[in-house]
Parts: sequence; C-alpha cells; structure tokens
Amino acid sequence: MAAIDGLPPLREVIASHGLSAKKSLGQNFLLDLNLTARIARAAGDLSGMDVLEVGPGPGGLTRGLLAEGARRVLAVEKDSRCLPALAEIAAAYPGRLEVISGDALEVDALAHLRPPIAICANLPYNVGTELLVRWLTPRDWPPVWSTLTLMFQREVAERIVAQPGSKAYGRLALLVQWRCEARIVLSLPPEAFTPPPKVSSAVVHLKALPEPRYPADAAVLERLVAAAFNQRRKMLRAALKGLAPDIEARLEAAGIAPTERAEQVSLEQFCRLARELAR
Ligand code: SAM
Repeated sequence: MAAIDGLPPLREVIASHGLSAKKSLGQNFLLDLNLTARIARAAGDLSGMDVLEVGPGPGGLTRGLLAEGARRVLAVEKDSRCLPALAEIAAAYPGRLEVISGDALEVDALAHLRPPIAICANLPYNVGTELLVRWLTPRDWPPVWSTLTLMFQREVAERIVAQPGSKAYGRLALLVQWRCEARIVLSLPPEAFTPPPKVSSAVVHLKALPEPRYPADAAVLERLVAAAFNQRRKMLRAALKGLAPDIEARLEAAGIAPTERAEQVSLEQFCRLARELAR
C-alpha cells in the first residue's frame, strides 16, 4: 500500500535500493511513517522554516519533515547508497529537498540555509553528541538555528535534561541548559528501529534561548564545569583548587559551600562562580 505522499513504504525502498543496514554508519532505520511524522511534529511548526536533517538514510524522517510542511529540507548523508532513494523523495516534493552527499562533521550545512532554521536528526550516538556540542557552542549567541530535535540513546537524553542531585547531572546538562530549554518529547524502545539497537532511545527537543540563562563567560564556565565534574566525588574546594589559589574564598563569595560536591550545584551557582573567577 502506498503511503500518503504517494511514495512506496520504507521496507520496499530499502529492498529495492539494497540498503542493508551498516553497523559502521550506525544505521538503525525508522520504517514507521506514523512515527517519523510524530518526530517531525515534535520539532514544532515547520511551515516557513528551513530544516537541516543529518543522516536521512532511506528518508523516513525526511518524508515526515516534508509532509509536516517544512519550507525546505537540506539533508546531509554520508552513505551514497541512499542517494537514489532520496532523489525519489525530492522528485515527489519539487524544489523542497536538497541532499548533500558527505560527512556532517565536515560539511558546513547551516551556511546553506535561511533562518528560521530547525535541525532534526536521528543520528548515530557519537556523531550526534559531537554535533550537539558544536551547535551549542557557536561563536555568537543566539545561534542561526532556533530548535534542535534529536534522537539519542535514552541515557544520553537523560544526561541532557538532568537536574542537580541526580547521577545523570553533569557537563552536558549544564552546557545545554545554560543556553536552551530542553525536554524529552518521545521515548522509543529498541523494536522501533530496523535493526533494533541494544538500548532504548529518546527524542530531545531543544529551543535556543535568546541569551544565556545567567551571565557568564563561556570559556570560564566550561573550564569550571569540566574541573568540577572530572572529580565529581570530591568536595569542590579540592576539585577546583587548580583554578584559583583562593578557591575557598571564591566559592564562599559565590554562595557555594566549599564542602559541596559538583552534583549538588545549580546552573545559577556555577554561573555565579564563573563570574567570581573571571573578576
Ligand atoms: N534518519 C534515518 C531514519 O531515521 O531511519 C536514518 C537513521 S540512522 C540511525 C543514521 C543515519 O546517519 C544513517 O543513514 C547513516 O548513514 C547516517 N550517518 C552516519 N554518520 C554520518 C555522518 N557523519 N554524516 C552524515 N550522515 C551520517
């Protein structure tokens, strides 16, 4: 049975183009178009937006993004075997899908798009985290993109939205939450993918704040948070002693007990300490 966009079901697409999943490229495909439409909807209202999709594969999510009304989709795919299948989607949506064949870590795809921009991807875990960190640390803030809607391993998604006092709380939570609103919008079991991965996954939606939640110098904050969580079991006066000779006094000036551990310190407190250290 043909799908609503008149294109064949994804199982047929995969069979006719010989897209057997490659482990080396982290290929776990989503074949249920209802599910890919839900992920596209989780990205918010896409009408009037340019969308960057990384790793379209056979195009399930791409079809969701186009059907949900994206003004234009630019998709970057490393596996050239997927290009003919993506060309069929481009033909069904004239002028709205462009595909770049290449490695998303090497292509400056955002330079090809016009704001407002949404980024949406179901990517291998290592590539996804690396791209996330890059998207969160542009030279200037706000970034050119408005939202990120990304699939991660459930455990990574939990680290992104973690709050103080939890095991998952750390550098990633602070990096994300300093400059974005972040929430988990969808959880998926391994069986949602073909082939199924070993662990569960979750889609995280991030919205860029117009400016960071609290003032702080980005480099100082990053150094501070890295030092604090590199030795997360230690008291901060010990974990941070390399950052300033009078670290106890600085911690107290920022309203943080020197005996506190990183896991208990809020984003606002870290930002206060970063300002204190930059003085
Ligand atoms: N988006 C499709 C879906 O949801 O069914 C495919 C998802 S699959 C988890 C990851 C996709 O990312 C694969 O198509 C893979 O070839 C592609 N990929 C892996 N590394 C990449 C990279 N560095 N740059 C661009 N695409 C990459």
